[in-house]
Amino acid sequence: MIIYGSRMYFKKNLVRSFGECEHCGRYGKRVSYRARKFGHIYWIPLIPLGSTAQVLRECKSCKMGAHIPTHQLEPMVDTISDQFKSWIVAISEGKTELEIEPGQPPANIGLLITGILDDLYCLNEIEDITSITNVLDANNLVYERHLVMGRWFEIQGDLDQARLAFQAATEARPNEGPALFQLGLVEVLRRDVPAAEAAFTRYLQFHPEDNSPHMELLGLYEIEKDHAKLVGCLDVLFERIPELLDQKKLKKLYKKSLKKSGLQGKFAAQV
Ligand SMILES: [Zn+2]
Repeated sequence: MIIYGSRMYFKKNLVRSFGECEHCGRYGKRVSYRARKFGHIYWIPLIPLGSTAQVLRECKSCKMGAHIPTHQLEPMVDTISDQFKSWIVAISEGKTELEIEPGQPPANIGLLITGILDDLYCLNEIEDITSITNVLDANNLVYERHLVMGRWFEIQGDLDQARLAFQAATEARPNEGPALFQLGLVEVLRRDVPAAEAAFTRYLQFHPEDNSPHMELLGLYEIEKDHAKLVGCLDVLFERIPELLDQKKLKKLYKKSLKKSGLQGKFAAQV
């Protein structure tokens, strides 16, 4: 039998990280690297197929990841890296918030860094977190430091440490929604139902209009096969977003949960 096919060869800039896969939704190991696709026979790369590309966050479970051609990569890396540098300069100038879009409320710098940390790391723009925490420490930005550290631990696959860091952020500023939301997300990844509910309940006190905590909890209840909680959660979601009643998958889940839990759902007659 002749073994032939195609795959990425000559991997460079390999970065291992952890995160939620955009394709299969699993939180797990991922790799990012630069490489070129070759057609192979008996695993010997013989025919180059296309130019070198950056692969971002290739999931170990489903093998899917983003492929960015090199000519698109450089402008992308420059934008991310310039943005990051300008935020570090702003911190050293004593700023904690920045206006990103005119007319929108200013965004917290710690939260902004948290948002691009994964890209910076996977693109090999930063190797560790100390250069960032040093700047935050020098400017006494305690809340921001905990936020950034929480995200860093999440990327490193250490969910227990991530949880502690986000908890510390919520203690530093108990009335800030974003830290509570991040904490809730980590608790979902840890599959700790009571802790996730507690974090999201606190978050919803500040952002009652946000539906995303309910969606996150729905996913968690589904994994845990908690039918009674699924009914309660879907009742809330159907009430908030009536269009969800048109989604076959959710209707099926609701029906099944009603049957298994024996509960009377608010929308039982509509599915
Ligand atoms: Zn995947």
